[in-house]
Amino acid sequence: MTDSTIIYTHTDEAPLLATYSLLPVIQSYASAAGIEVETRDISLAGRIIANFPEYLEESQRIGDALTELGEMTQLPGANIIKLPNISASVPQLKAAIAELQSKGYAIPDFPDDPKTDEERALRARFGVVLGSAVNPVLREGNSDRRAPLSVKNFAKAHPHRMGAWSKDSKTNVAHMEADDFCSTEQSFVVASDGTLRIELVAADGTITVLRESVPVLEEEVIDSSVMHVAALHEFLTRQITRAKEENILFSVHLKATMMKVSDPIIFGHVIRAFFPHTFATYGAALLAAGLNPNNGLGAIFEGLATLADGPAIRAAFDAELAAGPRLAMVDSDRGITNLHVPSDVIVDASMPAMIRQSGHMWGPDGKESDALAVLPDSSYAGIYQVTIDDCRANGAFDPATMGTVPNVGLMAQAAEEYGSHDKTFEVPTAGVVQVVDGSGAVKLRQDVEAGDIFRMCQTKDVAIRDWVKLAVSRARLSMTPAIFWLDPSRAHDANLITKVERYLLDYDTDGLDISIMTPEDATKRSLDRIRCGEDTISVTGNVLRDYLTDLFPIMELGTSAKMLSIVPLINGGGMFETGAGGSAPKHVQQLVAENYLRWDSLGEFLALASSFEHYSQITGNARAKVLADTLDRATGTYLNEDRGPSRAVGGIDNRGSHFYLALYWAQELARQSDDIELALAFAPLAETLGAAEQAIVAELIAVQGAPADIGGYYRPEESLVSAVMRPSATFNAALATLG
Ligand code: NAP
Ligand code: MG
Repeated sequence: MTDSTIIYTHTDEAPLLATYSLLPVIQSYASAAGIEVETRDISLAGRIIANFPEYLEESQRIGDALTELGEMTQLPGANIIKLPNISASVPQLKAAIAELQSKGYAIPDFPDDPKTDEERALRARFGVVLGSAVNPVLREGNSDRRAPLSVKNFAKAHPHRMGAWSKDSKTNVAHMEADDFCSTEQSFVVASDGTLRIELVAADGTITVLRESVPVLEEEVIDSSVMHVAALHEFLTRQITRAKEENILFSVHLKATMMKVSDPIIFGHVIRAFFPHTFATYGAALLAAGLNPNNGLGAIFEGLATLADGPAIRAAFDAELAAGPRLAMVDSDRGITNLHVPSDVIVDASMPAMIRQSGHMWGPDGKESDALAVLPDSSYAGIYQVTIDDCRANGAFDPATMGTVPNVGLMAQAAEEYGSHDKTFEVPTAGVVQVVDGSGAVKLRQDVEAGDIFRMCQTKDVAIRDWVKLAVSRARLSMTPAIFWLDPSRAHDANLITKVERYLLDYDTDGLDISIMTPEDATKRSLDRIRCGEDTISVTGNVLRDYLTDLFPIMELGTSAKMLSIVPLINGGGMFETGAGGSAPKHVQQLVAENYLRWDSLGEFLALASSFEHYSQITGNARAKVLADTLDRATGTYLNEDRGPSRAVGGIDNRGSHFYLALYWAQELARQSDDIELALAFAPLAETLGAAEQAIVAELIAVQGAPADIGGYYRPEESLVSAVMRPSATFNAALATLG
């Protein structure tokens, strides 16, 4: 890699499959302009392999690309295109390990219930690939996400379907009112660089150090908070009764992927609360068998098969399932409930999906139904209640006329909750958890009972300053009102408000409309404006960044995958995330079943254009600018001509959409007059692709309908995927002429 190489990431599932078709186009176009595009493997399987070299043969080992990219984000020349990757739950991690083992990689088994020091160490090593392990390493900047004008206009002209809302909808959000992370939050601003220790002082005075030393910087904001599990359990029990009484679906929405320590534990409490008798009778037996509710009902049911009294335990579960409220389903055909897998229902995606669908989720009978959405912690749950109330009162949003809500998110340097995993603990005994500074002064104190979840969060001052700057510059560039979503009654937010008010003074905000509102009020104001076709920038912390960049795009565009998602790295580099969506596992199933990939690479096109643009600014390479501008126009044509993948066999899929992008891009390059040499280089290709359009589309459609063998899920065979994803000999031959 040189100072100015573009890095394209090799990830998982649908975006990985799409890469095998799109990257050859990107690399040949870029290389014709003298720009190198390299790849780095940050797939789940790749990360597992990279972390266990001593178990593997020399030829199987690969470097730790994630760590390398993490270091690269510090360089001013960094230019990384980041595709979505799997945030692995424990079941996914185990499946990936099993696949690697079957391919001859001697990766050790994941220890479910580590008992020895050796097993605990192994478990900790797997911890670095578990959950959202990639994004926090790469996100060394704040986040700038919006729907580009071309995309927004396309969505207005071709509005997606929105489920109608009824004024009688019984759908609501339930959250705790006290004793949760939000209500217990304490916060302080660090006076000078140093370290903090987190310790548990038990009732008898014994001190257990939970974290020996957390480095902190001057002016950094530190918070602590606790989820009291007795109150959580009582709350959950009440909501289960409520859903039953109101005869609506019971559903729980967490973020077990990103909040990988706290949320699986909370998920486990939901299961305990739903099956109180089963756990009273068999809890000890389940525990002894290593069947932990934190991994979901599905894993317990599987494990029961090996137990002597498995059938009796299963009967106890089934009896309570039948007696309880109807459960929201992930897949009613296969009997997969909301409680089967902790990461099946992920709040940022699941709540917008429900709101788009008339406030419905799917019930056990396979039909849509109103639902109680349980989001235990009250920090952000209110925004969804406001949105639901708004839809109940005013009907569904209209994508043809609605305004847009771009986001400027505080994300850099593992800000706030999303960086708290290594400071989150399930407290072993009752006492006080305290945060102590280098001088021995106790800065924060939380009373805890055994089993409570304690967490400490950090937010660096440079990140906050950069966030305020980005907010002002976005507000100025788009002349759009900007709202900081901060709640003065939350300890952390109160500290942020003080800083925001101070840092705003450093900028010329004349003529700009910048305000600070609670998340609920900000939601209401943004929704009122959106219904009038007006735009409002949301300036939020890390969690709301994640939630809102799904909520608004899903309502406005039908998917967050069509967002432009830029991370201006604090040290000057650029990271370009493709869309805000995930890796669409369902799309892989369809490809394997019928050789059809419905993944839309629009997010990749948008990211790539921004990456070329950034490249030209950093290196002064004018050709990169030509590539960016022509790609931008080609993407506009792609949208206007409706060349995105359709959903079913017979239409053009992901591969066909790449052909059209390549065609339009070549035509734009051939047509532009900023760089005649480049125009001449692309003219023959534009000609060939245009002439061969029908032949290529026919070749691409001919392969559809039969199963496709890609030789694996987490680590598919390169030669097989490449063959599946590049089935048009005519297209491949035309591309090869560029070199
Ligand atoms: P998802 O992958 O976004 O999929 C939800 C649905 O959104 C898909 O089934 C698909 O709808 C639609 N979709 C998303 N991207 C699309 C695209 N480019 N083209 C067409 N349709 C698209 O969400 P998920 O199932 O919640 O998450 C799957 C995995 O992705 C998880 O492991 C999650 O942790 C990870 N994830 C990663 C990132 C990241 O790396 N930045 C972000 C979010 C999630 P249809 O099925 O209706 O076609
Ligand atoms: Mg999200």
